Amino acid sequence: MILPLTKIPTPSLHEPSQALTKDEILSPKIQKLIQDMIPTMYREKGIGLAAPQVGVNVKLCVIGKEAIPEDFFPKDSTKDLVLINPTYKRTGKRVVQETEGCLSVPGKQGKVKRYRQVHVDALDEQGNPLSFEAGGYLAHVAQHETDHLNGIVYIDKAETIWEIE
Ligand code: ZN
Repeated sequence: MILPLTKIPTPSLHEPSQALTKDEILSPKIQKLIQDMIPTMYREKGIGLAAPQVGVNVKLCVIGKEAIPEDFFPKDSTKDLVLINPTYKRTGKRVVQETEGCLSVPGKQGKVKRYRQVHVDALDEQGNPLSFEAGGYLAHVAQHETDHLNGIVYIDKAETIWEIE
């Protein structure tokens, strides 16, 4: 099922989301939410999607294949990345500035500074621990999506924002 998107200025986009327990992750409600968020992300041509963007303030986000390095999952896997209760910390000195957009902020893009390299701790869609080092594009997207779960939309951090067609 394709879910309707929540867009600014909806106040819930700026509220921190609830962490999920393993039992909650395995519940039919959350499993269905994951199953619906993935096609919603692709349909809307997003690279990632966080649950608050579909009106559910829980700490769950999905990241699409476009941002996942080829060697991230076992060979020939076509999985998307599901992160629950994710946190990140920087593991390098470098900060990079990239152009970002967001499905919750239609018609705009902006330049955002992010850590070049981060360590991410999360749970997967089965509630099992998932930790990884991310660099480049995945690092950028993981920070953008994790921020959503803490009530931060990229325009809150952007150095410049402009309109697109
Ligand atoms: Zn976003």
